[in-house]
Amino acid sequence: MSEHKIIIAIDGYSSCGKSTIAKDLAGRLGYSYIDSGAMYRAVTLYFVRNNVDVNNATQVAEAIKDIHLSFVFNVQRKAADIYLNGENVEPYIREMAVAERVSEVAALRDVRTFAVAQQKRMGTEKGIVMDGRDIGTTVFPDAELKIFMTADPDVRAIRRYKELAVKNPDITIEEVKQNLEQRDHIDATRKESPLRQATDAILLDNSNLTPEQQLSMAEEWVRQRTGAIADK
Ligand code: C5P
Repeated sequence: MSEHKIIIAIDGYSSCGKSTIAKDLAGRLGYSYIDSGAMYRAVTLYFVRNNVDVNNATQVAEAIKDIHLSFVFNVQRKAADIYLNGENVEPYIREMAVAERVSEVAALRDVRTFAVAQQKRMGTEKGIVMDGRDIGTTVFPDAELKIFMTADPDVRAIRRYKELAVKNPDITIEEVKQNLEQRDHIDATRKESPLRQATDAILLDNSNLTPEQQLSMAEEWVRQRTGAIADK
């Protein structure tokens, strides 16, 4: 177990396996893992359910005042479930209805200000692995370890398709690929903290890596920064 606690920021394109490496690392280090995308997805779910118009600044501001997000650790998933105003919304936030709208909602300044403030508070004690799009650039610019992930678009689409098809048998790979491309485009070109690699982030292309291989690379980077990590 590492003694000196650090902040680990993992950013990158959609469905690159950020959450897999983040969860694995957090488990190995005894750190908390926070999926920042779940926060944007939960806000989007609220917008969808309450017909909030993203082009109506007053409606957006009112909605944000009404949203309370929290995380509760789920022992089975070995990760925290996200709660929206006291309801566990983890089962709903990965649906296509949310995936299709989330990047539009996440591009809104008020939404980002709200989410980033909460994310920064979660990092005050360090010992945290957070994944997202702007963690190394905006949320934790001083994070001791920053990883920027990428993978071949077809590999990413197939990985995501396999996850989604379990619950949505009618979904097609093409649909999934289009959604990933569209989200990456909006995320990388938006005005408010766009998706980009921090200058001090390590680039990790995991197209041809197994989860075990990428974990051992990341563990080595942690070791270099903390001087220690538990041996298996
Ligand atoms: O990580 P995940 O794919 O669940 O994120 C869903 C969406 O939330 C992303 O496509 C992006 O639009 C938004 N997001 C963001 N900033 C983050 C994390 C996610 O804008 N830090």
